[in-house]
Formats: sequence, structure tokens, C-alpha cells
Amino acid sequence: MMFQIEIDNLNKHYGGFHALRDVNISIKQGSFVALVGPSGCGKSTLLRTLAGLEKTSSGDVRIAGQSVIGKPPRERDVAMVFQSYALYPHMDVEHNMNYSMRLKRRPKDEIAERTRTAAETLGLSRLLDRLPKALSGGQRQRVAMGRAIVRNPKVFLFDEPLSNLDAALRVHMRSEIRKLHERLNATSVYVTHDQVEAMTMADHVVVMRAGIIEQQGSPLELYDRPANKFVAGFIGSPAMNFLPATAADNGALVLDSDSVRIGFNRDIAAGRQVWIGMRPEHLSLKPGVNDMTIGATVTGIESTGSMTFVVLAVASQPVVLAHAGRPEACKGDQVRLHIALDNLHFFDRETELAA
Ligand code: ATP
Repeated sequence: MMFQIEIDNLNKHYGGFHALRDVNISIKQGSFVALVGPSGCGKSTLLRTLAGLEKTSSGDVRIAGQSVIGKPPRERDVAMVFQSYALYPHMDVEHNMNYSMRLKRRPKDEIAERTRTAAETLGLSRLLDRLPKALSGGQRQRVAMGRAIVRNPKVFLFDEPLSNLDAALRVHMRSEIRKLHERLNATSVYVTHDQVEAMTMADHVVVMRAGIIEQQGSPLELYDRPANKFVAGFIGSPAMNFLPATAADNGALVLDSDSVRIGFNRDIAAGRQVWIGMRPEHLSLKPGVNDMTIGATVTGIESTGSMTFVVLAVASQPVVLAHAGRPEACKGDQVRLHIALDNLHFFDRETELAA
């Protein structure tokens, strides 16, 4: 298969610091890829490497089949949209948008036509003569995207483009960017530290930590089959709960903090120490089919109106339960906690890999 972007065994050192370690990613034409991970994991470094703003130490990057190692940014046919928008404050919207084409001395008609089309696509047609300071955050963000669109690049690179917007606008712009990506039949690589943003926007999510790819796959693959405890805890909100337990020889897991037994449906050797992973949305205070039940104490309730997060103590370990609707319990209640066994995850305590 022909990939639009191929990253092969890419390494990046900053002096003695190893910022990217053997990174491999293949990106199909038309796909939307999110690079996600905690601060300092190397996602911006990877994006900047694709843009040609950072030199690589070893490995290869190919765009449309051609190695771009050593090529300057302008020869890569990629356009980057930054968090800061990087608009020229003294230029109006139109001139900000077509700056790169003017720099390349494209014909005037072409510049006018492409600027007009991009402005229409982004709903900026009536703002073309405004300066950036006279625009809202969302409008500035659109101008930054307009600048990328007019160049008609093979690849769009986004570096946390929504982090300066308020929560409501961020949600709106997510779907705007996604629609734009589809309309332009673009290939997009999008950096974010927000796993919800990554999950809702991307077809392919790459989870990074400390310069390493921990796992990559479709959003639901990562949610359903996290390869290790890090990914399990990173993907999903509120985060997965983990309880330390040891496998007994009678086919049960015994919680370390107490002698509570939890049945399980997988073959785990007696004596093996594991983390039991339970997603908040797979816990309930009401019995269901194929559940197991343990005692718990309610230590806190947070309600958003539509959702309730119940904080429980299970054998003195904190566990969060999420349910759609209003609280069914009060702080201090002794409750029966129902756990959907089919949805449990197990991770080896030493390697942290899925067991
Ligand atoms: P954030 O979400 O905070 O932006 P990130 O995942 O994008 O984080 P990077 O900016 O890619 O992280 O940085 C990865 C690591 O490389 C960090 O530990 C950072 O300190 C280091 N780093 C980045 N740029 C340089 C540089 N020019 N010189 C030395 N170290 C650097």
C-alpha cells in the first residue's frame, strides 16, 4: 500500500537527551492522525520533524514516497498550523492568508482565487480586511488554517491549534477542522495533549510517552484493548481505575489491600501479581448480567447534571464510578459495587503489559 507519510525508525537527540526513540508510523492518504501524550513526550518534536523544523538524528521520513530528510520546510509540501496562530499583526486577514503565495510570486489571479476560496471555506469572506487584533480567538484560528489551506499542501500539521480557545469553541472547532479535513481530502497530523480531542477527531491515534510510541491504533482499539497500563490510564475519561491483586490457585484474583476476591475470566497463573483495570463507566451500583459484586463505601459524589461520578473506597483503594444520570447514593453510604466482568482489564504488575 502507498502511504502518504512513512516514518521509519526515527530517532532524535537533543545533545545527550533522546527525545524520539525508534518511532515508526505509516499514515494513509486521507487519514487524520493524532499524536497524543503527556507534556514532554516528544509529540511536538515529532511534528516539527515532519515539517522540517527539526533535524533528525537517524531514520527516514517519506512524504508521498520521497524521503524528505535534509529537505527544508518549503520543499516538503506540508503546511503547519500553530497553537499561537503566528499571524502577522500588521497584515489584514487577506494578506495573512496569502503571504506564502505572495512570497513565492504566484500569479495575481491565482492568489486572489485561492484566497477567495479558502476564505469562503472558512467563513472569513467578510473579514478579509480586518487586522488580527480585531478578530476573536476562533476567527484568528480560522485565519491560521486559511494560511495553510491556500498553499494546497499534501499534508496538514497541527500543533495544539485549539489550546487557546475556550471550552465551547474548542468543541466546535474540533468538528470544523475534521469537516475541513474531509472536504479537502487532506492528510492531517494533529498534536494534542487532550486524549478526548484525539479520540473524537482522529482515525488513528498514536500514544507517546518519553519519546516512545506506547501504542497506536483506532480510537476504539485503544479504548477496548490498551496494550499496557499507561495507555489504559491515558485513554478514557475519567481514567481507568487500577487495583493491585494477586492470582490465587483457585481461579480468582485476591485484592492485595484486603482479601476481597474478584472472579475473572482469563487464564492467569497462580501467584502472578497484576493490576485489575476497571473503567468508571463499567461500574454500577445496580446489578447487571455477568457482574460480580463487592462492598464499597461512598467517599464523594460529583455531579455535572447529566453525569455523576461516585468516588468509592474498595478495600481502602479509591475507585471512581461514572453513570449517566443523577446520584443514586450519598457520601458515607455502604453500597454494593457491581463490576461488569467482561469489561475488566488485567496488566502484569512488573511489565505493566496487558495480561
Ligand atoms: P508539550 O505538550 O509540553 O508541548 P511535547 O510532547 O510536545 O510536550 P516536545 O516539545 O516534543 O514535547 O519535547 C520533548 C522533549 O524534548 C522534552 O523533554 C523537551 O524538554 C525536550 N526538548 C525539546 N526541544 C528541545 C531542545 N531544543 N533542546 C533540548 N531539549 C529539547
